[in-house]
Amino acid sequence: MKILVINAGSSSVKFTLFEIDQETWLAKGQIERIRTPGASLKYSNHRGQKFEKSIIANSYEAAISEACLALCDQDHGVIGNLNEISGIGHRVAHGGAQVSGSMRITPAIKQIILNCYELAPLHNPPNFEGIEACEFLFHDIPMIAVFDTAFHQTMPPAAYTYAIPAAVAAEHKLRRYGFHGTSHHYVALAGAKALGKDVADVKLITAHLGNGCSITAVDKGRVADTSMGVTPLEGLVMGTRCGDLDPAVVLFLCRTGHSLDDVDQMLNKSSGLLGLAGIGSADMRDLIAAVDGGNANARLALDVFVHRLQKYIGAYAAVLNGFDALIFTGGIGENSSRIRALVCEKLGYLGISLEAAKNRTHDLVISSNAVGPKVLVIPTNEELMIARETARLLAS
Ligand code: ADP
Repeated sequence: MKILVINAGSSSVKFTLFEIDQETWLAKGQIERIRTPGASLKYSNHRGQKFEKSIIANSYEAAISEACLALCDQDHGVIGNLNEISGIGHRVAHGGAQVSGSMRITPAIKQIILNCYELAPLHNPPNFEGIEACEFLFHDIPMIAVFDTAFHQTMPPAAYTYAIPAAVAAEHKLRRYGFHGTSHHYVALAGAKALGKDVADVKLITAHLGNGCSITAVDKGRVADTSMGVTPLEGLVMGTRCGDLDPAVVLFLCRTGHSLDDVDQMLNKSSGLLGLAGIGSADMRDLIAAVDGGNANARLALDVFVHRLQKYIGAYAAVLNGFDALIFTGGIGENSSRIRALVCEKLGYLGISLEAAKNRTHDLVISSNAVGPKVLVIPTNEELMIARETARLLAS
């Protein structure tokens, strides 16, 4: 069964066509700089053919129809026509508190996505446009929405409730929602499998460390707690986001002449590793190079990043009352043996010790301890998870 996964962002659309029975991809690509004169399509297929070309994409329909042309092309295409596609899975950022799983897209589900615009102003609108474009282009092919927030809806009230007046929280839907849910769910399932167990029998801490970073405590397949909140600003230190902060800092800045928009921009776009290190880059590789070059601000940025992570792992070990494995994923989690080593060297009290050679080569299991939690490196695959969810819902 062929499943197309669509991830429509504010200026780009990523797509992957899967043969889901074998869990293999047939073709994937990305349309970038939609609605600009520099729009382009990057495409590759499982036979190793790839290309990049300029296109005209003044709308999401135009962008996705370019992807369709590539998929059906006689030379580099992988299907004869679009009717070979059994279902389309859409990544959707926010489903609010009403959505606790993937959903077949209906007018009611579209309304839920619209209702969450305020909670995810950068992501839900393009996700919605991507859905409408596909409805226009694919007519009767069933579509499923897979929400980034859905996995976290299994969290208990004690973990998702903010200690502000209950009526205010209810009026504005303010609570911990959590993000990267599809990634945390995927690596939790893969982690349990790597331990030779069912996810319902294990306690896991999953650390998704990319440009955005979040960490989740997974208790027998359900989320016990997660670091991102009503928005993806809360929690760990990130590339450009501050993560946890005394809320009074915001009040202080607003009272001392910064506009709300200034503070929004500052905390989301100019903070985190970028703001701390001052090297003009939010990229962990650049940060590590600066640390090795003796840059003291970069050193502090790295220390703050690692300290925050260490603190959350300790907190989640307590929340879970012990755990079976710590899982690293995301660009940093999958590739930076240095960050993994810096964090894990502070976790000896939990019984964790890393095997340096395995850590260096990013093995699946990088811990050497026979007892105590294992440490795993699992490349995330949100597209595959979306394709699986789409196939599961189509079958049910
Ligand atoms: P996104 O959150 O945008 O999906 P990624 O998951 O691709 O981001 O992660 C991007 C981050 O991964 C960047 O900070 C980048 O520096 C980091 N990264 C990628 N490879 C390495 C590496 N070998 N060492 C350290 N950091 C890395």
